[in-house]
Amino acid sequence: MNNKVIIIGAGPAGLSFARSLSSLDIEITVLEQQTLKQISEPQWDGREIALTHLSVQLMKDNGSWNRLPEDGISMIKQAKVLDGDSPYTLFFDHHEANTETLGYLVPNHLIRKSIYEEVITHDKINIVCGVSVVSLSTNDKGGTVTLSNGDELSADLIVSADSRFSNTRRMMGIPAKHKDFGRTVIVSKAKHEISNDQTAFECFQYGRTMAILPLSQNESSIVITIESSKASAILAMDDDEFNLDCAKHLNNRFGKMEVITKRIAYPLVGVHADRFYANRFAIIGDAAVGMHPVTAHGFNLGLRGQNYLFEEIKQAMEKNQDIASQKVLRNYNKRHQVFTRPLYYGTNGLVQVFTNETVPGKFVRKALLRLGSNFLPLKRKIMDQLTEAS
Ligand SMILES: Cc1cc2nc3c(=O)[nH]c(=O)nc-3n(C[C@H](O)[C@H](O)[C@H](O)COP(=O)(O)OP(=O)(O)OC[C@H]3O[C@@H](n4cnc5c(N)ncnc54)[C@H](O)[C@@H]3O)c2cc1C
Repeated sequence: MNNKVIIIGAGPAGLSFARSLSSLDIEITVLEQQTLKQISEPQWDGREIALTHLSVQLMKDNGSWNRLPEDGISMIKQAKVLDGDSPYTLFFDHHEANTETLGYLVPNHLIRKSIYEEVITHDKINIVCGVSVVSLSTNDKGGTVTLSNGDELSADLIVSADSRFSNTRRMMGIPAKHKDFGRTVIVSKAKHEISNDQTAFECFQYGRTMAILPLSQNESSIVITIESSKASAILAMDDDEFNLDCAKHLNNRFGKMEVITKRIAYPLVGVHADRFYANRFAIIGDAAVGMHPVTAHGFNLGLRGQNYLFEEIKQAMEKNQDIASQKVLRNYNKRHQVFTRPLYYGTNGLVQVFTNETVPGKFVRKALLRLGSNFLPLKRKIMDQLTEAS
């Protein structure tokens, strides 16, 4: 085995890529700054990841889907988008998409655990934990990383999956556009009296956005997005106060609410790298594109991107060519950028429109919702992107 790849970051994108490569004749080293315990037994982090049909297929192909506990997978049968104080709803139903479900919800820590458990069954993958990359350089022959413990490792190709705040992307001089939304997302789980009917609700209210993601009939993930200056007040509420606040903001649609977890806050920063490669170096996952979660594309894009890079490397190997040539990396970049750019900028635009609370802004929000509902080609397009079923 001559080809070597180093992957920086054992998050869901890095591990999925390691697993994809393990079907080829490649020696893979994954470097992770967290401890082995942290990545082998990841803790609940409040994120319920909405997965498209394509992502589920990719997870089935890489062996991680079948490792998920059955009760960790929930189906989204319908989705409703509401705006401000208007009773009008943009509505999606799985029957319109000709699928059993619009998409699936799986807690992030279970995704991480299942892919980790799959990866460790493959001999070609070596995971080194508790080390971070302190420097990185590449030349025409390969790349070398220096680790926090002083070790140096070399490979034909270095791939970074070290989060949206990627240090290695910066070390390799890849420019990126950052968008700080000035908002914070607060996630928790709650039980409620009235069933959610397996429906996901996205409520663009005035002052905050709330998403209700169905886990079981009477249990949902509650996702509140709010100006960062107002987030600490929500985090400081005691549970009773928080329950009443949620019920009030949801117009008692779900009856009495009872939060059953702690609340976890994530500051909202979006990132899109100008390109996804440099000399013998590529970025995948959030290091390439870190999305605003409102359209639930982040990890779905991560899975898609790592699969593009894997396909390009596989093709090069079949032709006995260099796995890290400019051609391989440029093809990966081109295929993925074509897909990510419209989604990234489209999502940011959507957020801008649906957080605009001026009088004309409110008018535009209402008009857009009706357009989405009544102009069927647009509705179809939104649904195709939500489900990635075809
Ligand atoms: C509230 C919320 C809701 C979301 N909902 C959805 C959703 O519904 N659908 C969806 O598809 N996506 C969703 N996402 C996005 C999704 O969680 C991310 O896209 C995904 O987790 C990114 O995975 P990753 O492996 O690229 O990065 P990460 O999960 O950030 O992992 C990066 C890894 O790299 C390691 N690392 C960092 N620096 C170094 C270094 N120097 N050396 C070694 N290791 C390093 C880190 O320790 C970490 O383990 C959501 C995100 C949030 C915050």
